[in-house]
Amino acid sequence: MTAKATVIPMPPQILLPVEGEEALFPVRRVYCVGRNYAAHAVEMGHDPAREKPFFFQKNPDNLLPPGLGMPYPPLTEDLHHEVEAVVALRAGGADIPLEEALNCVYGYAVGIDFTRRDLQAEAKQEGKPWAAAKAFEGSAPISAIVPAARIGHPEHGAIWLKVNDRKKQQGDMNQMIWKVPEIIAELSKLFVLAPGDVIMTGTPSGVGPVQRGDHVDCGIDGIATLSVTIV
Ligand code: MN
Repeated sequence: MTAKATVIPMPPQILLPVEGEEALFPVRRVYCVGRNYAAHAVEMGHDPAREKPFFFQKNPDNLLPPGLGMPYPPLTEDLHHEVEAVVALRAGGADIPLEEALNCVYGYAVGIDFTRRDLQAEAKQEGKPWAAAKAFEGSAPISAIVPAARIGHPEHGAIWLKVNDRKKQQGDMNQMIWKVPEIIAELSKLFVLAPGDVIMTGTPSGVGPVQRGDHVDCGIDGIATLSVTIV
């Protein structure tokens, strides 16, 4: 049987580098968790009480592999950085039990959930979706994925971000309101998860604006670091 012809060229499969491997990680979907660190919920004007986690999405081709400049997006004057731990899945399913959730994880990375904060504020005010604020070109710079087979499943580790060498965000993965297994279990109640899904797990406090030409460094101790220039 020959492969089906396509009426337009086949769009590229998004592939991410994996630390220490020649083989790449193919991305299926990108989920993001909102307000998952109490101090960040407070700085955004919300009560950090442990409400149900909520989710939004970016597109697989919004992921910006390491080494590329991040294009400053149009129609914003308030582009904000949000450094986040990223989870890459090797398995999925629906209604994944909490105690099986970590078996679904292939590895971890550090990423930035760049946000057009002015468009997000407008959307919140008008009860509109966040897509324009979150899911734009190059909006999610991400490090190589580090296999859990090498580093295990980190529950703590400093998570930090600097702009032009000035520390802006500083937290610890252990401050996450919803931990990685809980995020996977909750997400799998809403969606059928699958290999290739990537989850951005929320940002600690200290989010703020970047400008063209800024150099952003971030990392999670024990996982990875990432550098990106805004172009
Ligand atoms: Mn975020």
